[in-house]
Order: sequence, then structure tokens, then C-alpha cells
Amino acid sequence: MANSHGPITGAQGVGKQVSECVFVGIGSNLGRSASNIKAVADELGRFATGKVGCSSLWRSEPVGLAKGAAPFVNAVVCFDCSMTPVQLLQGLQEMEVRYGRSPNPLREGYESRTMDLDILSFGQRILAGQPLTLPHPRAWQRLFVLLPLQELAPEFRFPGRDESLQQLISVAPGIQIELLSEQPGQPG
Ligand code: ADP
Ligand code: MG
Repeated sequence: MANSHGPITGAQGVGKQVSECVFVGIGSNLGRSASNIKAVADELGRFATGKVGCSSLWRSEPVGLAKGAAPFVNAVVCFDCSMTPVQLLQGLQEMEVRYGRSPNPLREGYESRTMDLDILSFGQRILAGQPLTLPHPRAWQRLFVLLPLQELAPEFRFPGRDESLQQLISVAPGIQIELLSEQPGQPG
């Protein structure tokens, strides 16, 4: 039977990699957000064993940021991945920096950012701790994740949670959010 947690090591599968379905949330409220998100979605192909699926782009009001912060552009992508979760996290963090994010170790709470890439879920894995928590600890409460996710995978359920996306959406804290461009996101 296939091992769903990394390379197969049994006699049948020496050297074969098993891919797991990964969902990544993308957010940006600084710079050329829409075109950068589109570029990132394309570039994520190098972590994928197949095609990258991308939701529409959504525009959401900034939550938990200082007054006057620019609205966010958000999307969710999914792809099959044969890396480990930590390898993927490192790859995403390298992309965040390359797309202009400067880490601020002194920050408290949320801040504006050119690119934020969060692993929403990685197969059925459940992890708690450093450097990674899976599924992402706050994603299930965020409309700017749930709405694009519902577009992409309406039957998705967060590993370890029973609720459907529709149920999570109906109880998530209300925010202003609207469709910015139909899938696939157009540069802007
Ligand atoms: P947030 O996305 O909540 O605003 P950051 O992007 O600044 O916060 O992430 C801070 C840290 O969150 C990262 O250094 C990373 O190690 C950790 N982290 C924990 N779980 C995840 C996850 N599922 N996806 C991405 N980062 C995560
Ligand atoms: Mg993040």
C-alpha cells in the first residue's frame, strides 16, 4: 500500500515519490499585487508534480492592520507535491523574499506585505509546532481563504475538521470581500 507521507521505502516502491495534494493561500497588499500573485501561481509549478490550479483573484479588506492599510488581493492555489512540508515552506519563504517581502522580526500582529504564502493544508497531515502548523491554524476562519478555496475545491475539508467549506463560510467573521477577476487571475 502506498505511504502517503513521503517517499515509498518498501520493496515495491524504491526511489518513487508519492505526491500529496497541497493548498497554498496567497495574499498581497503592497506593490503590483494582482500581477505578482499571477506570477507566483505560475512559478509554483516548480514545486508541483502536475498542473497548478488557481482560484480567481479576490479583493478583501485588511483585517488586524493599522487604519489606512491597502486592501489585500487573495487567491488559493492547489497542486500535487512530492517535497516534504518543510522543504515546501522554505521554497515559499524564498519566494516571499524574492517578491519583495522584508521580514520584520519586531512586528507585532499582522503587517502589510508584498507577498504572503501560507500552506493551508498538505495532504491529510496534522502538525503543530515550529516551523510549521498544518493545517494552517487560522485559515478555517478566514473568508479570504475560504471563498477562493471553495471555488477551487468545493468538497475540501481541512484535515482534522468535520465542517464543509459552506459551513465554515457561514460562521466566519464577516469582512468586505469581492471577486476581483475571474479565474485565471488577470494581471493588474
Ligand atoms: P501570517 O501569515 O500569519 O501573517 P507569517 O507569514 O509572518 O504570518 O508567518 C510567520 C511564520 O509562520 C513562518 O515563519 C512559518 O514558520 C510559520 N508557519 C506556521 N505554519 C505555517 C503554515 N501552515 N504556512 C506558512 N507558514 C507557517
Ligand atoms: Mg504567512
